[in-house]
Amino acid sequence: MKISIIGSTGSIGRQAIEVVRNMPGFFEVISLTGGDNIEELRKQIKLTNPQNVCVKSEENALKLQKEFPTINILYGDKGLIDIASDKTNERILVSVSGKTGLKPTLAAIENGIDVALANKETLVMAGDIVMKRAKEKGVKILPVDSEHGAIHQCLSNRKEVEKLIITASGGPFRTKTIEDIKNATVEETLHHPRWNMGKKITIDSATLMNKGLEVIEAHHLFDMPYDKIQVVVHPQSIVHSAVEYVDGSVIAQLGFPSMHIPIQYALTHPHRFEGVETRSFDFVKAARLDFEEPDFEKFPCLKLAFAAGKEGGTLPVVMNAANEEAVYLFLQNKISLWEIYEITKRMMGEHKNIPNPSLEEILEQDTITREKTRNFLLNK
Ligand code: MG
Repeated sequence: MKISIIGSTGSIGRQAIEVVRNMPGFFEVISLTGGDNIEELRKQIKLTNPQNVCVKSEENALKLQKEFPTINILYGDKGLIDIASDKTNERILVSVSGKTGLKPTLAAIENGIDVALANKETLVMAGDIVMKRAKEKGVKILPVDSEHGAIHQCLSNRKEVEKLIITASGGPFRTKTIEDIKNATVEETLHHPRWNMGKKITIDSATLMNKGLEVIEAHHLFDMPYDKIQVVVHPQSIVHSAVEYVDGSVIAQLGFPSMHIPIQYALTHPHRFEGVETRSFDFVKAARLDFEEPDFEKFPCLKLAFAAGKEGGTLPVVMNAANEEAVYLFLQNKISLWEIYEITKRMMGEHKNIPNPSLEEILEQDTITREKTRNFLLNK
């Protein structure tokens, strides 16, 4: 399988390299792209021997080109698009975080390349356009997100589905009070009980915005109306999600919380192989599986996401952009955790929705909202 990894130095990208290295002879890495973490890229180049590598800045590209004269070193947005468009690829993994994932995903689709998608923002921003083009081009969008990977595995006949059940660990503040959440520090928020992930998604998991983005992602991936998507809090993170059928049967996918499994399956689908995860699942050891209703008062971002998803148009774009910028402000200690919600809600309230937006309109609203969110702090 000839693959490229867009965002190889992030949390998912690094685990994908482990998956690739664990299956010698199965994968051929055509290209890697990795922002400006050239230290990590250097290591990955030696491990996977790619033909092309893309970094963010020209300066780093020149540096790497000197060190690796036989590799084609590219940089910037154009380099990213060139790598995603390369028809040598049979599948690309899009594992960058935030809005950076949208253009390379569309470029791969236009060139008929299957996409293992770990970037939920792509579908939140432009799910209608992405899924429509993928269908027209006969391109598979294979979800890497553990919940969507689970649903993908449980889903056989879409017409017989009653509802999708997306599980959520509940994050670090599941058992805390609203006051605790309002006073939460960056450090407490980054301490996720179950999953070790990048910073942006870890903050989103603490506010449950991550679950909200996943609801919108599921709506697009599986063409499911919002009233047939249920979020259930499941603190052990063993049941990764489930599908209920019209006859009352529920099919769930279970396993230890490990991202290696969904990453590998998205890259090898429809086949399964022994993986990095070698522990055998033990029901007796797992012993207890608890489930509870999400608390929409403590985690109002989840409510925002359902509202934005149902409304559609550019509202999910605005929500996503405001949230992402607010998360960065929180990480810099410039706003409180609760203000992520307040700012996002305000940006959504001020937005005049555009139904059925074009890609240009989506990108324009994204830029406007990000500027407004950053300026919000100056006017506070
Ligand atoms: Mg997830």
